Amino acid sequence: MGKALVARAPGGPEVMDWVDLPDGRPGRGEVLLRHTAIGVNFIDIYYRSGLYPWPEATMIPGAEAAGVVEAVGEGVTDLRVGDRVAYVLPFGAYRETRVVPADRLVPLPAGIEPATAAGALLKGLTAQYLVTASYRVQAGDTVLVHAAAGGVGLLLGPWLAALGATAIGTAGGPEKVALARRHGYAEVIDYRADDFVAEVARLTAGAGCNAVYDSVGADTWRGSLKCLRRRGVFVNFGQSSGMIRDFALSDLAAGSLTAIRPVLFDYIVTRAELLTRSADLFARITDGTLQLDVVNTRPLRDAGALHADMEARRTMGSTVLLA
Ligand code: NDP
Repeated sequence: MGKALVARAPGGPEVMDWVDLPDGRPGRGEVLLRHTAIGVNFIDIYYRSGLYPWPEATMIPGAEAAGVVEAVGEGVTDLRVGDRVAYVLPFGAYRETRVVPADRLVPLPAGIEPATAAGALLKGLTAQYLVTASYRVQAGDTVLVHAAAGGVGLLLGPWLAALGATAIGTAGGPEKVALARRHGYAEVIDYRADDFVAEVARLTAGAGCNAVYDSVGADTWRGSLKCLRRRGVFVNFGQSSGMIRDFALSDLAAGSLTAIRPVLFDYIVTRAELLTRSADLFARITDGTLQLDVVNTRPLRDAGALHADMEARRTMGSTVLLA
């Protein structure tokens, strides 16, 4: 038996109840994990609130976790009891134990702690595919990233700098601006105080950016398009301020722009792709490119309070729930 946070109906953080759940037995191709650390991501809020549809009447949020293998099902040959692993799946991780398909598990290299993995796997894989696949960043590029002091934002800054790009970030308030500046961003705009379109024009001497990584959505997308240079790429990978509702294809005619709305799970479809992207991420952690010094921790039971903080824009970096 283990504890879990189960949302009984779409709504605010209060819809999640702390309940007992049986551990479950791993079937063919599955393993039973005991979670040690669970990452918290904005996608958990999209599911909890009902913005993303639920497959069943109740829902356990949580899209990434690290843990230890407790039992192995039939046909699993490459994992043993006691192995340290992590995974990303769209929902279901806010629980102490869980049965997971073995082919979705990523073994943790020796130097990577479970809390680090739980705080960085989903966000780090996202940063990895964004800079290598959604738009392939080249040395010399200038790139704009919104919510630069957020979980994904703090990983994108140093990654872009390591690729030789000039990263311009936006963040809400002086404390977040200062944090993003310490994480690879050459310039950071306080987009609550200043007009980020005018600031980007000033910082690039009117040239604009090769690409914009926009996870804020409704509040920023129009400005983001204006920050692009001719044939620039608009990468909209989230909507923390709400869905983009009034976009028209003809908006891209202002400079022959490209727009893409990518989703992580389409970039880790095969096991080989999952492991290749994870290996790139772990290499960036162990070689020091990514500074994971902002991993805050809370007990799993307190996830609701953390959701409220994230929705009110009070968090910086990533926070991990300890099971
Ligand atoms: P963050 O830690 O970045 O938190 C979201 C941030 O968005 C806030 O801290 C805030 O930063 C900013 N924000 C701007 N407007 C609002 C608003 N109205 N309400 C709340 N926040 C707002 O979250 P994550 O790192 O977990 O995720 C970042 C984004 O990336 C999310 O939109 C998420 O959905 C997306 N994502 C997409 C993936 C994909 O594959 N498509 C995968 C992973 C994440 P500030 O105060 O500085 O404005």
